[in-house]
Amino acid sequence: MSPFIQELNDLKNYGLKINNIIWKFELYFSSDWKFLSICLGFNAANSNYFCPWCQISKHDQVNNQTNWKISKKMEKINEYPGHSKKPLFNMISLDHWIPDELHIMLRIFDRLWSLVLSELKDVDQFDNVCRNEIVKEMNRIGVRFQFWKENGSNTWNYTSLMGNDKLKVLKDFNLGQILPPLRAKKIRELWDRFNLIYSNLKLKDYDPHQFQFEAEDWLGLFLTPDRVIPNSNRIEKGLYSPSAITPYIHVLVYHISEFMEIHKQWGVKAFSCAPVEKKNHQQVTYFFRQSFKGRGSKHKSVIKEILEYESRSLFYLFDDVVTSTPKPKKLNIF
Ligand SMILES: [Zn+2]
Repeated sequence: MSPFIQELNDLKNYGLKINNIIWKFELYFSSDWKFLSICLGFNAANSNYFCPWCQISKHDQVNNQTNWKISKKMEKINEYPGHSKKPLFNMISLDHWIPDELHIMLRIFDRLWSLVLSELKDVDQFDNVCRNEIVKEMNRIGVRFQFWKENGSNTWNYTSLMGNDKLKVLKDFNLGQILPPLRAKKIRELWDRFNLIYSNLKLKDYDPHQFQFEAEDWLGLFLTPDRVIPNSNRIEKGLYSPSAITPYIHVLVYHISEFMEIHKQWGVKAFSCAPVEKKNHQQVTYFFRQSFKGRGSKHKSVIKEILEYESRSLFYLFDDVVTSTPKPKKLNIF
């Protein structure tokens, strides 16, 4: 990494001179949580001190009174608990390490979905009938979905969904097919409001204060406690406990509005990893569908094969080459 790090340092400190104009650089970092914490020399998302931006610990999550702000400074990064290694890119200030909007949606959706499934398991409803209903409902909204068991294992696996499919489920899945009506209504409201917050997050001109307010309100709904129904002994079940809050939920509620404010010139969506993920998906698809997986002529490495394919595509794109070749002319020679 050192030549790259040196180059970034030079770009930041001296800029780049092109045709007698000195260009200055502002550096930003955006990736999913895992890569971000590796580059920051920070511990994993399931550790006690999990937030790259503030000093919250898992225990602090129980009371949600504190208004957590971006408080760490890159210059003092190794003084905070959980920062075990020197960060790779300490030339980028911490408020330029921007959480990725795509992973916020993907991971919070995963949590909401798994909370519904574990609720079904808790009340012993997660049987064949229920699983069939889920698959049927997924089909209705146009999402390919399956449950299966691995050999010798007792746990049910299910299709891991792509981003677009997750959004479809978030918007359109009828929870009433698998949950009692009141329960379905409650969880639907939580899902709808998350979907709304997520759409607002991606708007360039959305008011950060309004966003903060709505996100905190949503967390309040997420943490709805059980309630005794007046004049009866019955208890109306609330939603989820503070232990169900994930690091991405913490970031959505406490840090995103700040990032919106600091980077309002671009909007948070400008730092989205969605294009990178798309590229990754295309290359994985190419690997499985079109490459020889390293077993082609002379065992050419698959990475080289993909790079050559990329460079051919770029050549066609930039040189405006007609990609469909005309049919060969037939000549009859007597
Ligand atoms: Zn934090």
